[in-house]
Amino acid sequence: MKTRVPWSKRLNVILVPEGGARTFSFQVRTVLLIGFVAITLFLMAATVTLLVSRGRLLVASRENVRLERRIRLMEVELEKVRTLETQLAHSERMRAEVLTLLGARGEPLDSMLATPETVALVSFGTDELRLRQEDFLRSVPTTWPARGPVTRTFVSPGAGDRAYHPGIDVAAAAGSPVVASAAGSVTFSGSDPEYGNLVVIDHGLGLETRYAHNARLNVRVGARVSRGQLIATVGSTGNSTAPHVHFEIHKNGVPVDPRKYLD
Ligand SMILES: [Zn+2]
Repeated sequence: MKTRVPWSKRLNVILVPEGGARTFSFQVRTVLLIGFVAITLFLMAATVTLLVSRGRLLVASRENVRLERRIRLMEVELEKVRTLETQLAHSERMRAEVLTLLGARGEPLDSMLATPETVALVSFGTDELRLRQEDFLRSVPTTWPARGPVTRTFVSPGAGDRAYHPGIDVAAAAGSPVVASAAGSVTFSGSDPEYGNLVVIDHGLGLETRYAHNARLNVRVGARVSRGQLIATVGSTGNSTAPHVHFEIHKNGVPVDPRKYLD
């Protein structure tokens, strides 16, 4: 037999403790009981939802922290890459300048770049490169040893013994200054039967200059000289018929045409 509980009716609730000594009973309206159960269920559901979303939030914030750390690391890396790029661009410019300098003298680039020093020069780090470039620029013999006309030009050994002339002759008044063509150290300063009073300067990078037929010598062996420094006076000593400077540039021990270097 089915019994329907009308909304308006009251329900009798009887609580029976174990042992059954005494029972508690009370009446409650059906609509209130249903309402109470509904509210309880709603609160429980709300609590569960809240807890779940809070858990997700925690996970998300942890992920956030991790991502932020990664972004910071990437920013640091990016900064490093930018610095490297700047340095590389600088090195490239330096390299281009060095190549221009070498190329402008008309010497084949490969043979000039083949020395370990110049290879090291173009592959060095920025600061070292700048220092070495300054060193290099100071050491390349581009300054004329004396002021005057060239009375004899360079003739390479291939031309035959009679024509061979391993340097240039610059005519100048006796006693006028002979200057260092670039910075370097004096490796010889003395008399030679052919060259007369001779000064030899080592510039590093495989470059050496020779100044022959001088009257007076103003430097000693071992002296450091700078570009344009007075090293001797023009004379006509040794195998010479008139005052002039016989000027040679040796590249890796081989005489080369000085006019490819001189400004
Ligand atoms: Zn000569």
